[in-house]
Amino acid sequence: MLFNKALILGIGLIGSSLARNLKEKELVDTLVVYDKNKENLAKAENLGFADIYTDSIKEGASDADLIIFATPVCAFGDLAKEVAQYVKKGAVISDVGSVKQYSLQEIEKYLNKDMGVIVVGGHPVAGTEKSGPENGFTSLFKGRWCILTPDDNSTPEAIKKLTKMWESCDMKVDTMETAHHDKVMAAVSHLPQLIAYSIVGTVADLEGYEHKEIIKYSAGGFRDFTRIAGSDPTMWRDIFLTNKQTVLELIQRFIEDLVALERNIRWDEGDKMFDLFKRTQKIRKDVIEAKQDQPEHEKRIMEELKKQQA
Ligand code: NAP
Repeated sequence: MLFNKALILGIGLIGSSLARNLKEKELVDTLVVYDKNKENLAKAENLGFADIYTDSIKEGASDADLIIFATPVCAFGDLAKEVAQYVKKGAVISDVGSVKQYSLQEIEKYLNKDMGVIVVGGHPVAGTEKSGPENGFTSLFKGRWCILTPDDNSTPEAIKKLTKMWESCDMKVDTMETAHHDKVMAAVSHLPQLIAYSIVGTVADLEGYEHKEIIKYSAGGFRDFTRIAGSDPTMWRDIFLTNKQTVLELIQRFIEDLVALERNIRWDEGDKMFDLFKRTQKIRKDVIEAKQDQPEHEKRIMEELKKQQA
């Protein structure tokens, strides 16, 4: 057992997948899950992956020695303020938020070393485009990276325990400084996601095209963007609003590169395009070699979802 009593705030895809791991791998004795969404709480209770299901922060936070924030990031501040009324001294506070500077700033306004608690930011870089407790599963994290972002409110013992916790979820663990985390994630996750939302919106609104034809022939590339653009709107709205400056800088750079490609096409600069596409082909190879391509993981996700629907 790593912790006696743990509380997870927000029992959606990530919170419920973590909950399944904490209980199945016997990492906590008593697991409490909290959510403001009563329907999700009832679904979680039916699935039975925790000990206590509650809409009372008081019940969950009192005596908890681990508290994990797993709601969309814009909810962290208000939740932290409430948790601060009941948290016990020495408790370890962490989160799974996709943006680290904002998440920790909000949490640490109310929960910090002056309050006698320990904070270590975390981000399991794993997920699907689905939401809710019914879509979580134990092997979601398998083989993926979890990034911890310790700061002045962290202690080596807490970092060690959280490393152990995520490793027990079959993740590889790295540590990063918060601003660096947000810069890296803006490039590999936030910008690609934004481009997917934009392309799907553009193609869907094109005049002179029949909607049913766009859907019928979507396998021509559009389909892959729709998978990404089918993700949870609340979660992604919060990410763009809270990693604003970094994402805005990357959008500017992207627009310049897109205009350069537009010029290549307009002025028949085939060589320039070819050179770029050769470079991107090499990047795809590097991703596959780093075992970061999806097929195996996607297959597992599909199998899990089928199992749950059966
Ligand atoms: P999710 O499936 O939508 O679950 C979030 C849950 O939190 C929902 O039940 C939601 O209820 C509830 N909630 C929202 N606001 C709340 C509040 N103020 N108080 C209590 N509960 C609240 O979301 P998720 O995909 O698990 O994402 C959760 C966190 O993980 C986010 O911070 C996200 O950045 C991070 N993350 C996500 C992924 C991913 O791929 N999904 C990957 C890594 C990290 P409602 O449905 O009523 O809003």
